[in-house]
Amino acid sequence: MSFDRVRVRIAPSPTGDPHVGTAYVALFNYVFARKHGGDFIIRIEDTDQTRYRGSSEDMILRSLKWLGLSWDEGPDVGGAYGPYRQSERREIHAKYAMQLVESGHAYRCFCTPARLEVMRQEQKAAGKTTGYDRHCRGLSQTETAAHLTAGDTFVVRLKMPTEGKTVFQDYVRGAIEIDNGRIDDQVLLKSDGYPTYHLANVVDDHLMKISHVMRAEEWITSTPKHVLLYQAFGWEVPTFCHLPLLRNPDRSKISKRKNPTSLRYYERSGILPHTLLNFLGLMGWSFGDNVEIFSVAEMIERFDPKHIHLGGPIFDQSKLNWLNNQYLQKSTDDEFVSYIRDQMFSPEILKLLKPLVCERIDRMEQFVDKNAFFFNGALTYDQATLVPKEKTVADVISVAGALADVLDDVYDWDGEHLKAALDTHREAIGWKPKDYFMTLRLILTGRKDSPPLIESIVVIGREVTRFRLRSLPQLLK
Ligand code: GLU
Repeated sequence: MSFDRVRVRIAPSPTGDPHVGTAYVALFNYVFARKHGGDFIIRIEDTDQTRYRGSSEDMILRSLKWLGLSWDEGPDVGGAYGPYRQSERREIHAKYAMQLVESGHAYRCFCTPARLEVMRQEQKAAGKTTGYDRHCRGLSQTETAAHLTAGDTFVVRLKMPTEGKTVFQDYVRGAIEIDNGRIDDQVLLKSDGYPTYHLANVVDDHLMKISHVMRAEEWITSTPKHVLLYQAFGWEVPTFCHLPLLRNPDRSKISKRKNPTSLRYYERSGILPHTLLNFLGLMGWSFGDNVEIFSVAEMIERFDPKHIHLGGPIFDQSKLNWLNNQYLQKSTDDEFVSYIRDQMFSPEILKLLKPLVCERIDRMEQFVDKNAFFFNGALTYDQATLVPKEKTVADVISVAGALADVLDDVYDWDGEHLKAALDTHREAIGWKPKDYFMTLRLILTGRKDSPPLIESIVVIGREVTRFRLRSLPQLLK
C-alpha cells in the first residue's frame, strides 16, 4: 500500500508567541500541498500541559491567516480526521499504546522516579551515558500482575531493538542511519495517561494519513524512534523531509534573545505579509535565475523540495527590510494608503490613544512629534539621562533583559497584569520605585514627559515593548 494523496501537516505546540519558524515550515508544507493538489492540515500538539498557553493556539492561527495561508483541516475548520487538537485525542493514544503492549512491542514500566534517579546517578558516577536500564523489560506476567493489583503507577515504554541500525530516507538529505543501541526504550505513555510527543505524533500522523512529514531539522534525532514505532505498529512510514533551521546572524539557532521570533512583532513593525512569505521562501530554497522577489503562487509553480539547500539560512533583518522596501515601492497608491492606515494609524490605535494624549496637545499638529514613540520601533537614547545615579549601564541593560523575559509570559496585556508584573519584578531586584519606573519610561517611550507609563505600555504593545527592552544592549554600546 502507499499513500494515494499528498497530505502534509504542521503540528505546532501552543507554548508561546507564534514563531517565525512555524510560519516557515507552514509555508513549505502549504506550497508542497498546493503543488500536488493535496491537503494541508494544522494539528495542535498540546499534550505537554506544563508548557501549554491557552491563548497561543489562537495567536498561531491568527498569524498564519494574517500571512494569507489557508488550511484544509484544522482545529478551527474541522475535517474528516479530527479532532485536530491532541489533548482531545488522549483516549486514542492510550488505546494504541496498550495495543503495542498486547502485541509485545511495548511494556509497562513500574520504576519509581526515585529508582530512576538512583540509576542515573550511578550511571553518571560510572562515566556511562544515562538512559533507562530496561529493568522492567523482562518482568514476567506474574510480576506485572502483582504491580497492577497493588495499584502501582506505570509508564508504557517501547521495546527498542538493542542491535542493528535504523535507517530512513530523508527526502533532501538521503539515507540517515542510527545505531539502535543508542536509542532508549522510549516512554510512549506517561503515568498520568498522557502520551509523549513521539507516540501522539506517530499515531496522529498515521490516522490523519499524512504522506510527507516536512518539519524542522531539530526533529531528525526523533525520527528513528518514530520509524521504529511505525514498524512496531506495522504501518507505512511517511516520507520525511527535514528543513534547515533558521539561524541568527551568528549562525546559532534562531532565538528571541538575538532576533525577534514572534510573527506578531513583524506584523506590528509593518512588514507586509507577502514580504515575510517571500523572505521565508528564500530560507533554504531558491527560485532560480537569480530571482529573489516572487509570490507564493510562483513558488508553488517552481517548488521541489529536492532543491532545498542544507546550509543554515540566516534570518537577516536587513535583507527583510530590503525586500519590504521593494514591495512598498511596488504598491499601488490605494495599497499604500491602506497599509499605513490599517497597520499604523488604525481607528483602534487612535481610540486607545485618545485618553492618553488629548490633554497633552493643544493643536493637532503636536500629535505626531509628542507621540511618535507609540508608532516607532527602536528609539534612541541619551545614556547619561537613562542610567540612574548609583546604577551603571550594565545594570540597566540587565534589568531590561530580565524584564523582557518576565513579559514573555504576560499574555493578558492590560494595566492590571502589567502593573502586577512590574511591581513583582521591581521588588525582586530591589530597585527604588522612582529609579525603576523612570528608567523604564525612558527605555520604552524615550521621554520623561510621556503619558502614564502602564497605560502607555498597553498601547505600545507586547511586541514593541519587548523589542525595545531586548535591543537596548546594541543601542547603548
Ligand atoms: N510539536 C512539534 C513542534 O512543536 C511538532 C514536530 C513535528 O512536526 O513532528 O514543532
